[in-house]
Amino acid sequence: MGDISGAREELDRLGAALRAQLVELIADLTPGTDLGLLFLDEPTVADWTEPPRYQYSGLIRGERPATVAAADIVRRATALLDAAGWETGTAPDTTGARPAVVVTGHRDGNSIEVRVGEHTSAVMFSGRTPALALRAPREFRLPDPVRTPDTVETGFVLCYECDGLGACPECGGRGRLSDGQMCPECLGARVCPICRGVGQLLVSGLSDYQRTQYPELRGAPE
Ligand SMILES: [Zn+2]
Ligand SMILES: [Zn+2]
Repeated sequence: MGDISGAREELDRLGAALRAQLVELIADLTPGTDLGLLFLDEPTVADWTEPPRYQYSGLIRGERPATVAAADIVRRATALLDAAGWETGTAPDTTGARPAVVVTGHRDGNSIEVRVGEHTSAVMFSGRTPALALRAPREFRLPDPVRTPDTVETGFVLCYECDGLGACPECGGRGRLSDGQMCPECLGARVCPICRGVGQLLVSGLSDYQRTQYPELRGAPE
C-alpha cells in the first residue's frame, strides 16, 4: 500500500553491494575479523521525514596486523576501492584525539570509510547506503478532538492549549514535524503537554496563570 515500486529492491541491491565491498576490504586488510558483527541485515530509519527514509549502515572494527603500517592500510584500501570503481579520497580524521587518516569511497550513492592511525591497531570500517523512501507520503489528517464544547464534563473546561484536541496541537499527534524534526512542543510524546491528552482541565485545579486563559471564569468562585 503506497509502496514505491522497486524502492526496497533498489535499497537491498545497494545494501548487498555495500556489504560485498566491506567484506572484501575487511578480509584483505584485517584478516580474521568476525564478519558476523557487520550489522547490515535490515535497513533502519535514517530520517524521520514523511515518508521516512531508510538505509543500510554498518560499523565494524578490525585489527591491523603488527607487520603492516597504517600507511600501508591507507594505500591498500584506496587501491582496492579504486579497482572496484569507487571514487576514493583520503583526509585527516578529525573525529579522534590522535592523528589518523580516513579513506573514503563513493559509488552509486553508497559510501565507505576506513579509519587508521599509527597509534592504534584498530581499523574502523564503516559504510552506508543512501537513505531512500520506501513508500509514498501519507496525507495527514488531524485526529478528531477528544473533547468538544458539547462533551466537556461538568467542572472542567476545554484545554486552552489544544482546544479539546487531546493530541499535541503543534504536530497533530505525530510527535514530529513534517521535516522529521522532533516536535518542540510535546518532545515526541504526541499528546498535548497541558492536558496530557484528555482535552479538558479541572476548573478547581487551574493555576492562576491558567485561569487567565478563560475570561469566562473571571469573578467565578475558585
Ligand atoms: Zn490540551
Ligand atoms: Zn507535538
